[in-house]
Amino acid sequence: MTPYAPALLGFVLGAGLGTLTVWLMVRRAAQKARGQIVNRHHLGEILQPMRAAVIVVTEADYVLAASDFAKNLGMARGSSLGPQAVVDLLTDARRQERALESEMRVNGPRGEPIHLAIRAVPLSNGAAVIIGEDRSEDLRFSETRRDFVANISHELKTPIGAIGLLAEAADSAADDPEAVHMFLAKLAKETGRLNELVSQIIALSRLQSDDPMLSATEVVISQVLESAVARCRQLAEAGQISVSVQAEYGLMVVGDAEELETAVTNLVQNAIAYSEPGARVAVTSATDADQMVAIRVSDNGIGISEEDQKRIFERFFRVDADRSRASGGTGLGLSIVKHVAVAHGGEVTVWSRAGQGSTFTLRLPIRKDDDQK
Ligand code: ADP
Repeated sequence: MTPYAPALLGFVLGAGLGTLTVWLMVRRAAQKARGQIVNRHHLGEILQPMRAAVIVVTEADYVLAASDFAKNLGMARGSSLGPQAVVDLLTDARRQERALESEMRVNGPRGEPIHLAIRAVPLSNGAAVIIGEDRSEDLRFSETRRDFVANISHELKTPIGAIGLLAEAADSAADDPEAVHMFLAKLAKETGRLNELVSQIIALSRLQSDDPMLSATEVVISQVLESAVARCRQLAEAGQISVSVQAEYGLMVVGDAEELETAVTNLVQNAIAYSEPGARVAVTSATDADQMVAIRVSDNGIGISEEDQKRIFERFFRVDADRSRASGGTGLGLSIVKHVAVAHGGEVTVWSRAGQGSTFTLRLPIRKDDDQK
């Protein structure tokens, strides 16, 4: 071997390795430019945080990557696809060479039922994507709307039916002025009930579609309390119930004054309606430990059992429907209060003991100085 041979070999090897490295870099750059750099690892990174169930599988249904949501629902278990219904949908989609859709119910991580709209999409390279969207909320919404419409129809039927019957009764008692007078008075009462019910339904649907914070102003809480109590004065006098107001000076919130007044009025009306003559209702406002404005409406009335406390904020729920109707209640008052509270970033809670009384607390974020900026 000549003395130059090792150097020559080194040169040839070095040049070869250099060329290979440059070639690999060029290929990588070209792949990157063509968007082929997404490997299994990257795919996992992309899919992992998605809020939908997304699974990418190979030609042999081997799971390449899946979103956390898909894994939590058991749709991707390690490298295999989850429920048989999903596998069957993908098999059909591959056979028909087109995307197919289906719906299914699975159990969520806490065992809660989840309604999924599934789409299986075969790709041209043999792989496939499965996408599952959570439709539970839509379904719940349409169920709630259906129940609401059914409840409204039921609630409207009672006063409308009564108005028809009373009109007939007044007509057939035409020669007895006293009876006519009595039937007409009842008719006026039913009309008032119908009017109240329709106004509450309109108020509730407006609350559901409006965001009070879009037209929010600074609201002085003591004024809200005074106006609400003034609105209930007649009712309180008729029920022989004394209502006191004690408002912390200077408390303000940001929101819709009219809505807040309606919410407090509903609470005061209830406190009066569900108390016996001679009872006392106290309306107060103060800053609580969490620096929220706490408006409290307390009564020493009939109270609410623990079981019923869980349901009183539902639309049309009443512990005693006859008592509620007799006091002009519609079963919508507390759901309106709840909507107003949530729309203002607050909450409404209840403390109550059957036979002892109740305290409803409406908590709202306090207006701080920097709210003005
Ligand atoms: P309603 O128009 O029937 O008063 P609400 O939605 O305002 O409807 O209240 C729902 C139910 O909660 C009432 O029917 C009543 O049974 C109960 N409730 C509400 N407030 C009180 C209260 N202060 N004391 C006792 N029961 C109450």
